[in-house]
Amino acid sequence: MKTLKGIPVSSGIVIGKAFLHSENTFPEIPRFTVSPGEAGDEIERLAGAMAKAIGEMKTLHERAGAEMSVAQADIFAAHIMMLEDPDFQDQLNSLLLQTLHNAEWVVYDIAQDLMRKMMSSPDPLFRERAVDINDVSKRLLYHLLSLKRVSLDELEEEVIVVAHDLLPSEVLTMNKRFVKGLVMDAGSKTSHTAILARAFGIPAVLGLAGGSAEIEEGDLLVVNGSNGQVLCNPEEDKLFQYQGAAAQYYRKLEDSQRLRALKAETRDGRRVLLKANIGIPEEAEQALLYGAEGIGLYRSEFLFLSPGQAAEEEQQYHAYSRVLKAMGDLPVTIRTVDIGGDKILPNFPMASEKNPLLGWRAIRFSLSNPGLFKTQLRAILRSSVHGNVRIMFPLISGIEELEQALMFLDEAKAECRRKGQAYAEDIETGAMIEVPSAAMIADILAERCAFFSIGTNDLIQYSLAVDRGNERVNYLAQPTHPAVIRFLKKTIDAAHEKGIAVAMCGEMAGDPSATILLLGLGLDEFSMAASAIPQIKRIIREVSLEDCRALAGELLKGSSWQQNAVMVEAWMAESLLSETAGA
Ligand code: PEP
Ligand code: MG
Repeated sequence: MKTLKGIPVSSGIVIGKAFLHSENTFPEIPRFTVSPGEAGDEIERLAGAMAKAIGEMKTLHERAGAEMSVAQADIFAAHIMMLEDPDFQDQLNSLLLQTLHNAEWVVYDIAQDLMRKMMSSPDPLFRERAVDINDVSKRLLYHLLSLKRVSLDELEEEVIVVAHDLLPSEVLTMNKRFVKGLVMDAGSKTSHTAILARAFGIPAVLGLAGGSAEIEEGDLLVVNGSNGQVLCNPEEDKLFQYQGAAAQYYRKLEDSQRLRALKAETRDGRRVLLKANIGIPEEAEQALLYGAEGIGLYRSEFLFLSPGQAAEEEQQYHAYSRVLKAMGDLPVTIRTVDIGGDKILPNFPMASEKNPLLGWRAIRFSLSNPGLFKTQLRAILRSSVHGNVRIMFPLISGIEELEQALMFLDEAKAECRRKGQAYAEDIETGAMIEVPSAAMIADILAERCAFFSIGTNDLIQYSLAVDRGNERVNYLAQPTHPAVIRFLKKTIDAAHEKGIAVAMCGEMAGDPSATILLLGLGLDEFSMAASAIPQIKRIIREVSLEDCRALAGELLKGSSWQQNAVMVEAWMAESLLSETAGA
């Protein structure tokens, strides 16, 4: 038996035979130069391939529109937009004329350059967008090289598809009736292939980084899309064990689906809201599937990734509108861009800073880029007619920043009015509480906010002086640290005194071991990765607010994070069904 490890992107355990989809390994890209007189022919060849690729994508888009969800159709729409982008086409033609290289090489060269820029971002979400460039450029190259791809819609028996890489369009068109699981060398959690696998409910492990070479046609595979393991030809006892695990997984999943219709309410009637964090519009539908009662955090930075340009107002308007339409009446909290610090984007070369995490990031960046900031605010305002939008400002450290941000919002509203653009009058605005100073002056900030959302990823980082990306000191970033608990209490109490609700959108909100504490402290809304919602809801429904308050009271007296963590663990083991506590 061989055990391979990849990234779990679509949960579920499946057992089946491997179908190797290796025929589509890409050949080496030819590179040669043409004479100046032949450049016109190359440009024509490129235009021909472009037209074919666009035509193909449009057919897929129509098919997706008819058969699939909005999210899936959007993937194709994004690819069409990229191919039709005049800047992209100009870039290709100019490089060809300048270097006199053949069309294939020019496409390859530009795609590699764009991908390199995206991959240099420390944010995985941005790095993942390189996949779209890869997909689009490969489609062009297939046409330029006249390559034929083996189609996955001709499968005739149940298999687990093993590939080096698959285009999202191939995942869409494959015969889903026979594809039980997906294993791939490339990709990760936020790649479009992963989004599609989740949308189709196909368990998938991606990012095997060459591991697929260990698998042979017909091998018996156990794919665990929940922990990223792929077992190849397991022994009988292991196989038996996994057959049991697969059956148990599907029982739990049915249970989660049943939970979707139930409220997040404690036994003694304390109702809280469970919302989802998203980074790309396609995730809104996933959020609904897991029973999210809104989007608590839409990380809008992703939109600022498009190659070679800041996100245009129209592009942003469409993305926000898409999420709002998908969510219907449910609230969608859009966070204005959080660029800088740990989120360096290829389009925004930041001045090198000694301490970027203490530097020019988030609201500080927006306030000193009024053009960019107001463009985003106008796009959000215009999208507000399509649903229930709220605006949230990141990294607020004092009232001046908040007031300045609100002033820009007023200016953006005036600009919309001047242009006759409609927007909702009653848009709520709030601040993220993720800097210790903001927690300390929560009473002051609450005067100008309709809500707070606590960003514990940063609040813990800044209050405990622990760089969130530094693995050496990461063990210190403990949510049960007494200082963190006190900051949370101070924020929630101050907000409630002023009559505003408090949400949390940092990772702590989706951490099952923090749920009791947060309920006890009085948190009103929890926003997390959509897939965490059922588990958090299960815990909430099993406890009483009274018990949670008592535990929070004890934790507030605690002096060490370790003792606090042990106390929570013991409480959960005693008070919750064992399955939930250990989950
Ligand atoms: C946070 O800091 O907790 C948060 C939600 O924001 P981000 O992780 O995007 O910085
Ligand atoms: Mg943050």
